Amino acid sequence: MSAARDRSRFDIVVVGAGMVGAAAAALLSRAGFSVAVIEGREPAPFDPARPVGLRVSAFSPGSSDILAEAGAWRQVERQRHCAYRRMVVEDRDEASLLTFDAPEFGLERLGTIVENDLVQWSLWQSLLAMGGVEILCPERVAGLTSDDSGTRVRLDSGRDIDCRLLVGADGANSEIRQMLGISQEYWDYGQQGVVGVVETETPNPGVAWQRFMDGGPLAFLPLEDGTSSIVWSRPEAEAARLLELGDDEFIAELEGAAAGGAGHWPGRILSCGPRAAFPLTMRLSERYTARQAVLVGDAAHVVHPLAGQGVNLGLLDVAGLVESLVLARREGESPFAAKILQKFDRWRRSEAEVMARGIHGLRGLFTPGELGPLRRLGIGLVARSWTAREAFIRRATGRNRNAPALARGSALTDLLHP
Ligand SMILES: Cc1cc2nc3c(=O)[nH]c(=O)nc-3n(C[C@H](O)[C@H](O)[C@H](O)COP(=O)(O)OP(=O)(O)OC[C@H]3O[C@@H](n4cnc5c(N)ncnc54)[C@H](O)[C@@H]3O)c2cc1C
Repeated sequence: MSAARDRSRFDIVVVGAGMVGAAAAALLSRAGFSVAVIEGREPAPFDPARPVGLRVSAFSPGSSDILAEAGAWRQVERQRHCAYRRMVVEDRDEASLLTFDAPEFGLERLGTIVENDLVQWSLWQSLLAMGGVEILCPERVAGLTSDDSGTRVRLDSGRDIDCRLLVGADGANSEIRQMLGISQEYWDYGQQGVVGVVETETPNPGVAWQRFMDGGPLAFLPLEDGTSSIVWSRPEAEAARLLELGDDEFIAELEGAAAGGAGHWPGRILSCGPRAAFPLTMRLSERYTARQAVLVGDAAHVVHPLAGQGVNLGLLDVAGLVESLVLARREGESPFAAKILQKFDRWRRSEAEVMARGIHGLRGLFTPGELGPLRRLGIGLVARSWTAREAFIRRATGRNRNAPALARGSALTDLLHP
């Protein structure tokens, strides 16, 4: 940005610099738009000497490609991360088993487990290094007014900034969504995801392992040092009880829930670190756009973590938004015209809805009740059908036909200069 630039007027203002908002700001700036980002809290520097954080995510290959284009993935790969090539899904009641191996689908890996803090910090560093993005932090939005030419953002500090497009990336409890008057379908699962890092006697062999049980799934995700990050979905009262247990009692319950795994893994658990629990909900916004504004990431949709898709969906929104705006500009159209934003809305909302409802339905199969035989039949059918497994993997890795070009390996420069 030149020194003479008007610092109160931008093409795009992004609210929220979590993993999704920061990626949006970086990519939109790289695509040639003038961008400001408003964030309430500066991310803490990532400290590799610190134990692994409680919040980790499985990043699909599509997401790592998007983060590479946003200038963050190289930094992530220099720090703690664990690529995995195998995913195992088990059913508690039977030896029914689904296994996905990256090579059988022509993939080098199925995903990479990374701490959320590291990704957010790497993106923040990328924004600072790019220099062209105006970072307003700590700052919050006090109010919005929009007309057909753009949106005026009133900041808590009293300053006003104008933009052609406002991007709401301020997470599940998005104030921007509320200010825009966008309603949501909301489903409280009455469950919490208990998370923590555990050490198993036999180190995690680099496998993302998940077991479906009545009451909620249990996942062990591989970390670089052979330990595992767990997500154990339990009814709320159960989750609260698990948090209260001493380490030895917790380990005993966890071992019991995970006992009898394929290849006898996870087996014995030696230790566990601090634990925390997060409420599990599904939220689907009735629309992703309002006048001169769009929602992305958890501000637009929240899904149950059993398929590890929340932030991946958010990064696909970002890639889809960048693609929509850049292609419109290439065609000589205004990238901020209502019809361009509505097309983005239809595209990304239908994709997120397929995923959210798919996960919702899958979860329904695992609530206590009479569905055990149906579940076993379903897993058995999928296990025998390569086509079904391939379709699942394409979507989970962000490489399906409807995915944005940046998730399917295109570089941003390919979009800008075909
Ligand atoms: C237990 C659990 C496990 C999960 N595992 C996975 C997984 O394996 N894979 C996966 O893809 N997803 C996973 N998810 C989902 C994933 O964590 C979320 O989808 C992701 O963190 C959402 O990112 P976001 O940037 O949209 O929102 P957030 O991370 O919520 O970021 C929002 C940002 O906006 C800022 N902000 C908020 N309000 C304002 C405001 N008014 N003004 C300015 N700034 C504001 C916040 O400070 C924050 O930085 C999991 C979720 C849970 C609960």
